[in-house]
Amino acid sequence: MERQASLVRKIGSRFVDPEIALLAGEELTGKVRRDLLDLAYRNNWANILVNLSVGGGFILVFWAQDNLSAALMIWYAVVTVLCVVRLWGNYLYRRARMGISELQADDFQRWHFRYVIGVLTAGFLWSVVCIVQIPIVQGESQFLTMIIIAGLAGGAAGILAPMLLVGRIYLIALLVPPAVTLTLMSEPNYILAFMGLIFLIVMLVTHQNNHAVLFRSLVLKHQHDDLVEDLRQKNRITENWNATLEASVEKRTKELRNLVVHDTLTGLLNRDGIHEWFENMQRSGDELDFAVLFIDLDHFKQINDGLSHAIGDEVLRAVSNRLREHIDDQHAVGRWGGDEFLMVLAETKEELHGLVDATIQKAQYAVNQPINISGHTLHVGFSTGVAFATKDNPGISELIHWADLAAAEVKRSGRGAVHNYDNLLLIEQERRLAINQALRRALSAEEFHIQYQPVIKAKGGAVLSYEALLRWNSGELGFVPPDEFIPIAEESALIVDIGEWVLREACKAIQNCDDIAAQTKVAVNVSIRQIIVPGFAEMVERILVDTGLSARRLVLEVTESIFEKRQTVQISDVLAQLHDMGIEIHIDDFGTGYSSLSRLHQIKIDAVKIDKSFVLKMDENARVVIEGAILIAHRFGLKVIAEGVETEDQRKMLDAMGVDAHQGYFFARPGKIPCPNRHWQIDEVSGV
Ligand code: C2E
Ligand code: MG
Ligand code: MG
Repeated sequence: MERQASLVRKIGSRFVDPEIALLAGEELTGKVRRDLLDLAYRNNWANILVNLSVGGGFILVFWAQDNLSAALMIWYAVVTVLCVVRLWGNYLYRRARMGISELQADDFQRWHFRYVIGVLTAGFLWSVVCIVQIPIVQGESQFLTMIIIAGLAGGAAGILAPMLLVGRIYLIALLVPPAVTLTLMSEPNYILAFMGLIFLIVMLVTHQNNHAVLFRSLVLKHQHDDLVEDLRQKNRITENWNATLEASVEKRTKELRNLVVHDTLTGLLNRDGIHEWFENMQRSGDELDFAVLFIDLDHFKQINDGLSHAIGDEVLRAVSNRLREHIDDQHAVGRWGGDEFLMVLAETKEELHGLVDATIQKAQYAVNQPINISGHTLHVGFSTGVAFATKDNPGISELIHWADLAAAEVKRSGRGAVHNYDNLLLIEQERRLAINQALRRALSAEEFHIQYQPVIKAKGGAVLSYEALLRWNSGELGFVPPDEFIPIAEESALIVDIGEWVLREACKAIQNCDDIAAQTKVAVNVSIRQIIVPGFAEMVERILVDTGLSARRLVLEVTESIFEKRQTVQISDVLAQLHDMGIEIHIDDFGTGYSSLSRLHQIKIDAVKIDKSFVLKMDENARVVIEGAILIAHRFGLKVIAEGVETEDQRKMLDAMGVDAHQGYFFARPGKIPCPNRHWQIDEVSGV
């Protein structure tokens, strides 16, 4: 403030209102000063021309009054010269200002000084002419002189508004000398002098007001300009800030996007990530084909349940890292969920198949290496389903679905292998879905019935039992063979209700059939899924009670998979309970599954049924298996039944090997009960 005040004192006071200048501030005052000088020079033309013309008018008035003197003529010549000099100065100023936006301080001082000199000299000349002429002229001429001077002052109050002090001096120079002269004359004209002074005061106030308005408007203009500039600056800063903000938002968005598209446990792409990657690849316009590898870890559930979920997580992480190592950036590797991983390979059509084989091989080798976690050495394998994208089938969801189907197929037909997807799989899958749906309605829609196939004693040909074989005539799908629908019913646990129904119906049928010998049994197939349902033995007992069938007349056929399942203890307990009730337990499809020979003694069973595949084949290997099975079974005191006996040769051979009973088309196809109630005499059958 102090500096500002001193500045105003130093320069402002000369030509701007100190109060206003103080308000405007130092920098702004400087700008306004320069503008005022510009304006002053712009108005100067008018001032000069008015001087010239009013001076000429003055000459005319005095000439008309016959008062024109040589001194007046000289005065006007001086005025004219001054006007020319001032005009020239004005021109120079305009020229000097043209090339530059703002005057330097020195230039400003110089041009300001020149202006002041020009104006004040003009004012001085008017003072001189008034002082000299007014006493000389009388009456009307005095009035005319005062009117001309007053007109001049009126114009100056506006024209000299940019310059406060100079304007004031000019006005005073115009009006004070004639007023004083009028009073000091030999014949003073006080009225005219008084009027002249009043007019001076009015003009000084007008001039000051004009100056103030001008100054304020210039201050406002500059403030506005500064504001605009300020805003522009701020905008620029805001733009920068916006750009920084945009960058950080973009960065953060990318980070969030990364989180969204990556699996938190393994860091691999997740489902969204795989989709996004695929879309980007498609958009890239490269002529690439795609292959999806659906990788499903084998027996991961055992690790998870048996050890802990924490160790399970570690295994998933280790597998992820190993998979990632064998895939470069051009391809994608992701976790589909649980123990399922995906690799999506992008390659030219010619190279793709080779790349898939190589990648699976490398990945299998890497993942198969032992994983050491918390003192456990774990071995992990996986099943792979592969699907290739053709131009007609570019959707990633469809591709993954196909690869998933192919992997499921691998799981069904033994793990650890690779299966390529083909269209048959999809058809198969759709059929499985349709069967699953139709099965849910089959029981209530009474679409099931049972056929019975006899099991014939090898020695003597008596019917030992009838095997109950379920048949399904679906309202929607027509006849569906049990080999097709039973596994699906087992997968979905529908088998529990269906199995109970079969058991009840079979017991009822055999109990109510009068044509059947009292000791002939009924053999009912039972799935593991049914056995592990709590209360299975009680359910069987209840059915026996309900139907009135003796436990001694019931055979339950279970498959070898009972040895494979983890609930072996539970299963053997249930089977033992049933066995203790007097029910016979037979192992069905013996020889096809888990090598259970050594564990036969662990479970209370009565017989094994050698699978029909061995009987039907009856080659060297099959014979070895059958003979071995018969040998061991007999060692354990178990009977041996051969199923799938279609020919007499087979029967004879099996007899020679020592089987205890036969079942097969050679004797009877599954059919209605009562079956022919007779003994199959060996001679009779063979025709011997
Ligand atoms: P399985 O228990 O091994 O039944 C014997 C299968 O062999 C039957 O097939 C029967 O028709 C067939 N078969 C009998 N003799 C011959 C022959 O000489 N040659 C040939 N090629 N086949 C013969 P099916 O009836 O199609 O049953 C297939 C499988 O479905 C059964 O195999 C059994 O595992 C399952 N199954 C059938 N009914 C039921 C049921 O009620 N419950 C359960 N859990 N499974 C059932
Ligand atoms: Mg069976
Ligand atoms: Mg069988």
